[in-house]
Amino acid sequence: MISIKQLTSWLLLASASFTATSTEVMKPTPLAQAEYPNILTGTYNSAITSPEKFLGFEVGQKTATPEQINTLVNIWAKESERASIIEYARTYEGRPLHYLIISSKEHVANIDTIKSNIDKLSTPDDLSNKQVKALIKETPATAWMAYSIHGNESSGADSSLALIYHLIASEDENVNALLNNVVVLVDPMMNPDGRARFTKQLQQNRSASANFDTQSLLHSGVWPFGRTNHYHFDLNRDFYYAVNPESRGRIKAINQWYPLLMIDGHEMGALDTFLFGPPREPINEHIAPSINQWSKVFASEQAAAFDKKSWPYYTGEWFENLYPGYSNYSEYKGSIHILYEQARTAEDGVRLENGQIRSYKKSVHHQFYSSMTNLTTLSNHREKIFTDFVKNRKNHVAKSSIYANKSFVVLPTKNQSRLNKFLDLMDLQGIEYYTNKTELKVRNATNQLGQKLNSTTIPAASIIIPNRQYDAPLIAAILEFDAKIKEQVILEERQKTLRDGSSVMYDATAWNLTMLYGLDALEVDQHLQSGLSKLAREETSSTIALENTIAYIVDGANDASVGYAARLLEQGVQVRALDRKGLFNEVEFSRGSIVVTVHDNKNSTQLLSIIETTAKDTGVQVRAISQGLGEEDLPDIGGEHFKLLKRPQIAMLTQTGISPYDYGHIWHMLDTELGVRHSHLSQELFNSMDLRSYNVLIIPGRWYGELSAGNVSAIDTWVKAGGTLIVTGNSTVQLAKTKDFTSTTLLADSFENMQDYNIALYKEWLAKQTSVSNQDVLANHVVADSIWYPWQNLDELKPMNKEQLTRWDAWTSQFMPSGALVGTRTDQKSWLTYGVNEILPVLIDNSPQLMSKRPASAIVRYGVLIDNPKAKERLIGWSTIPEGKDLYLRMSGLVWPEAAQRISNSAYLTRDRKGNGQVIMFANSPNFRGATKGTARLLLNAIVYGPGLGSNQAINL
Ligand SMILES: [Zn+2]
Repeated sequence: MISIKQLTSWLLLASASFTATSTEVMKPTPLAQAEYPNILTGTYNSAITSPEKFLGFEVGQKTATPEQINTLVNIWAKESERASIIEYARTYEGRPLHYLIISSKEHVANIDTIKSNIDKLSTPDDLSNKQVKALIKETPATAWMAYSIHGNESSGADSSLALIYHLIASEDENVNALLNNVVVLVDPMMNPDGRARFTKQLQQNRSASANFDTQSLLHSGVWPFGRTNHYHFDLNRDFYYAVNPESRGRIKAINQWYPLLMIDGHEMGALDTFLFGPPREPINEHIAPSINQWSKVFASEQAAAFDKKSWPYYTGEWFENLYPGYSNYSEYKGSIHILYEQARTAEDGVRLENGQIRSYKKSVHHQFYSSMTNLTTLSNHREKIFTDFVKNRKNHVAKSSIYANKSFVVLPTKNQSRLNKFLDLMDLQGIEYYTNKTELKVRNATNQLGQKLNSTTIPAASIIIPNRQYDAPLIAAILEFDAKIKEQVILEERQKTLRDGSSVMYDATAWNLTMLYGLDALEVDQHLQSGLSKLAREETSSTIALENTIAYIVDGANDASVGYAARLLEQGVQVRALDRKGLFNEVEFSRGSIVVTVHDNKNSTQLLSIIETTAKDTGVQVRAISQGLGEEDLPDIGGEHFKLLKRPQIAMLTQTGISPYDYGHIWHMLDTELGVRHSHLSQELFNSMDLRSYNVLIIPGRWYGELSAGNVSAIDTWVKAGGTLIVTGNSTVQLAKTKDFTSTTLLADSFENMQDYNIALYKEWLAKQTSVSNQDVLANHVVADSIWYPWQNLDELKPMNKEQLTRWDAWTSQFMPSGALVGTRTDQKSWLTYGVNEILPVLIDNSPQLMSKRPASAIVRYGVLIDNPKAKERLIGWSTIPEGKDLYLRMSGLVWPEAAQRISNSAYLTRDRKGNGQVIMFANSPNFRGATKGTARLLLNAIVYGPGLGSNQAINL
């Protein structure tokens, strides 16, 4: 039974201080069913500290805290000649992340040679078959064993203690044999910040007797739960976005070892059993066939081992393998990857439907036993697995490879900070890239809208990534525009969608990196190599002061310019944004450039030093100018195009129903892109808050619940007084439905006057035209009796009435994507789109369809209009597509044609003026997983520029 000694003493101590009448908590009644024997059996070296001795309980009896795990693995690394330890990163909360190198004493002493052999075998192009054979013979296989990336899936990390101890202390012959063949790299606890939150919740929710009810707080945990890290990222979606220090350190560490086997120990629903690989379809086509074959071998040996114990298990079922951003990214680099999903058990055990109790120790045992079984399989097949690994690597750089004649091109951009982030990811994954000093003519290119370009020119200073590299599958998986999904899978998805609205997709169907980053790119069916050189990465920060400087300018195309502006504003500097392109001292500046004039800041004695420090902190290049007259008809320095910014005083709503992901990802953006002061407001206490302290309020998407009527009314008053309200994801629904709150509305609420929305759409399009409608009668003096109106063809085109639209919407809404990338067109006249390309890829799922017409404006709309002289005016869903245009939508992933029609022309981002303030709505999470850098820029602009550019400023008298 669980020990209540500690809890009792704590309670006694605590109660003594505030009441004299409390009694001790009772001893629990005995329950033999909940007992489970020690999982560490065998003869162990007494010189190694046993887990029980250090922890005070048998391994798996309770959940070890991150501090206990850290201390113990360090003790073991000191005590054992079979192990050494490496700290590979620190979390945001300052906790260390480690991996242990465990093998025979001889291998551990000889680890540098082993590593250098692995280096040679992973780049085998110059090796003869004989050399490969000889190297394989003398090199142990490597296995990366990683646990509990989700902090509340705790049994994996506890099992890692059993595994490490067993490997370093066991005197069993089998263990010795295993360690002669394998170097075991154990990453015991992948998310210590999440685990710390979870173990703290276990302590806080503990009662005197054990609790086996999965509905109870001990099992469910409380908001924001233990799954995520400090900023609420799901670290098991971060393996190629690498936004977090945990992932960055880990990827660097894993990539040095080319593990032939990678284990990732998780937990799933509490009443389930145990799942392990292999996955079912869809399986990403870039995983080598030999890896899929070996996965089956490992599975059959693991299944036989479970059968021996009569433990229930399954493979496949919900487990698909399309998205490459899980820990299984290692498969694309050559590992066999096995996922474990143990049914979640919290600390006390779980009462199952069959009446039995599954103890926590048993769960830990499943993970430990699986780990040993898989390591044994690796040891037994070491040479064959190694041979396949080398063969695959060799094939990836061969001229006959399927990857041989493909290159990816990132077109030049002035957004240096974003491009740097992209290149950092390439460096982290060991992907090689080049640049071209002169333009290149190429044939057979495809752009992100899927248009085939028979011949095109790649401008100088593009980034070029040939696919023909050792890591070809990973390159293809993250850079190719469209992941292939088998026809059979598409059919099954369609059937499931229609039958009961379920899906065969576990995660997104699109994740293309250049699209998520909002970087223009091309796929070229050619191995580009001539005329390329290695890119020299430059330091970007510099401030050049001139003798008669009148202003300092930072180019607005650069994402880092937003952080630069925010940090200057926080330090009391007067800052302006240039609202259109400018040209000063022969330097061209993009729309949205950040301007600090000497005149505005004539009382500041520290101006130059503040600018220099801020430029350094944000990595931007500052240019001093001495000429205020814009060349030709471009803006002059005192004119209306230099808008004064106002310091954002930022608050974000959180807790009670808010999605920890949306909240956390925005929080992360504020801390990593801006680093300025901001407040997090609890929704529970929101009623009593004084909102006058803020001019920006962010409401992230939510999991459940909504704002009270009182909250909505307080926000309404605050916006009218000049506040910038930013609402993301499904939190838009309540406010779009609230009467008189905003003129942005939802698709399903627009059917009554759909024609007005269609005409508003036409008007928006006409405002961008370079020819004048009704030009032919413009010079007439007599009023023309027959002129063109946008609605004139509607009778003939027969748009749907309300009843038909309702039916159409109900039908098409079944088919919304489970995560796909679609093209949007952005309003290049709005300050919200500073640094944003005209065509912006947006990640969409079953998100709200926003509708807007004046006074609200759609800043970003779904669909890109492309010339097609043959196209007639026609209806798509509720809207008309003008003559001479096609509407392009799908960029990557599965978008059913019905969904494409439903999505077309609705808004992703709207802005509505309200009193002296404004309401800005994003249909989806703009900083999804910290990876959608393209849409995140819109959010950064909204937060930092909103108070100055979108609301009426009061002058402090
Ligand atoms: Zn998990």
